[in-house]
Amino acid sequence: MRNIAIFILAIVCVACTNKRICMENECIYGSHQTQFAFWSNAAEQMEVRLYNDAQTADFETIALSKDAQDFWRATVKADLAGKFYTVRSFQNGQWYAESPGIFAKATNVNGTRAAILDMQATNPEGWQNDQRPAMKDPTDIVIYETHVRDFTMSPNSGVDHKGKFLGLAERVDYLVDLGITHLQILPFFDYGSIDETTLANNKYNWGYDPVNYNVPEGGYSSDPYDPATRIREAKQMIMALHKAGIRVVMDVVYNHTYNAEGCALGRVVPQYFYRMNEDGTYANGSGCGNETASDHEMMRRFMIESVCYWAREYHIDGFRFDLMGIHDQETMRQIRAALDEIDPSILTYGEGWAAMAPAYPYEELAMKQWTYKMPRVGAFSDDIRNALIGSPFDHERGFASGNPAGVKDVMRGLIACPEWSGEPAQHISYITCHDNYCLRDRIEVSATNETEETRLRMNKLAQTAVLVSQGTSFLYGGEEVYRTKRGIDNSFQSPDSINIIPWENRDRYADLHDYYQAMIAIRRAHKGFRLGCAEAVKEHVEFLDADNEQVIIYRIKDLEGIDDAKSLIVILNGSEKAVEAEIPDAQYAVLAQDAKANVQGLDKIKADHVTVEPYSATILAEE
Ligand code: CA
Repeated sequence: MRNIAIFILAIVCVACTNKRICMENECIYGSHQTQFAFWSNAAEQMEVRLYNDAQTADFETIALSKDAQDFWRATVKADLAGKFYTVRSFQNGQWYAESPGIFAKATNVNGTRAAILDMQATNPEGWQNDQRPAMKDPTDIVIYETHVRDFTMSPNSGVDHKGKFLGLAERVDYLVDLGITHLQILPFFDYGSIDETTLANNKYNWGYDPVNYNVPEGGYSSDPYDPATRIREAKQMIMALHKAGIRVVMDVVYNHTYNAEGCALGRVVPQYFYRMNEDGTYANGSGCGNETASDHEMMRRFMIESVCYWAREYHIDGFRFDLMGIHDQETMRQIRAALDEIDPSILTYGEGWAAMAPAYPYEELAMKQWTYKMPRVGAFSDDIRNALIGSPFDHERGFASGNPAGVKDVMRGLIACPEWSGEPAQHISYITCHDNYCLRDRIEVSATNETEETRLRMNKLAQTAVLVSQGTSFLYGGEEVYRTKRGIDNSFQSPDSINIIPWENRDRYADLHDYYQAMIAIRRAHKGFRLGCAEAVKEHVEFLDADNEQVIIYRIKDLEGIDDAKSLIVILNGSEKAVEAEIPDAQYAVLAQDAKANVQGLDKIKADHVTVEPYSATILAEE
């Protein structure tokens, strides 16, 4: 009976129909009363400090009393809009320092006090009509990753609100023109490494140091001092992207916090939300000093409620989980189930690894190897990445830059590594992201003696493999305009000059940009490159004998009723010599050849063999 009772409780909590046990209801504002409710199973006393504004030291103390579910509650019968609060707890014979609580939804500058406001009043004009753009199949997706500053800070970005949510909203047309479907934005919840009171100093950080998980970052707001402004402007950005038909993926970092003892998770219920070593120190699978414990009931519930909150309140369309391998599989499955109740088309994927070994059994963790055990949760494919351009741990070349060692792994990546992915959409096909070298730099450090012309050919060849893979396509923003980070492979706090996308290259490297654009169009026009399920990939994909370890002939056949083409052939030549490839004798439209691509076709041929130029892809659609 006990097990049944727990099961029912879990169902109620995922659906969040019982508001009394929801973690997200720490502060429910109403014009006649505000209710407070903080969870702690360890506190002996808890209290709220109510402040009249964001700065003053004076406060009113409100004692909280514990209910049967370990929620500490109080109701204040007054209109508290515009006031601020913190919470603190007493246990182990001491009062722990105050914090805004773990589920603050609005804060002061730098997020030290939670703000009380009417969330309805933060909605921009037209928000009630905001809708997720249409999406048919997860493999139709082309994700473009960027950072608010990378995308807007260049003097050539053409935007007025540089470095801000509103600035990103100004450049949406560029993304529509490029053809992507999803924009993944580096952390934009409130993080700790940027002092929001000194924004004029223009410091840069990626933002992987969470402070308030459920509040937008103040540094991207036009006024970080006003609690409503950052919320309204984040919604304006999302609405602008939705209007343009682009979905928004949030980069979420539940695996660790900025620090363990100075943040709300560590202060409200000390140590509970973290994995601890036997000697009492914090486990450190994140490499950032701590790791959270998704396997603890209330940490799991916090993560579930947090993503659901962003999906409902901000209309977020997907979540990319940083170091997902630190979380346990069961948590990821429950997150998937909870988001399905809101909208099954919301994406979930993440990094199926950790920085160091987490303090939890490996076989239970959401590691890439176990992706198939978490249906509809994807993982980044370091298999296809390392095979195409080389591993981040050395400077070797990859298949696309002349090294045949990874040829088998490129082939596995093209069919979305079924041995771990389960379904193709769960395989995130990519070669670069914010981590490690950008593509230009990666090819420069490994193919140093080649000419720029050759390196550009390698660049296009590698990205072609990503965009014809049966997995979900992922591109690092700015690769299409040949961005460089000047050899810096970890630019998390490098200045804007390193991290900005150089928009002036849009013209200088127009040929590269147009190739990316054409390849995205080719992927989106041909269902054969995104068959959608593992069974169909098995049935329709074959590799023809290339008789050369630097050449792959990837053929998707029997496409009647699936694609306008009867079959598709992609020949990837990773060698420095032109090669002849034998193909089935037929009439073909040539979609890509000799580092050029066009969705309408470059040429038409009737042939049983084709010449593929050095470091290039030929793509044929049978007519
Ligand atoms: Ca912040």
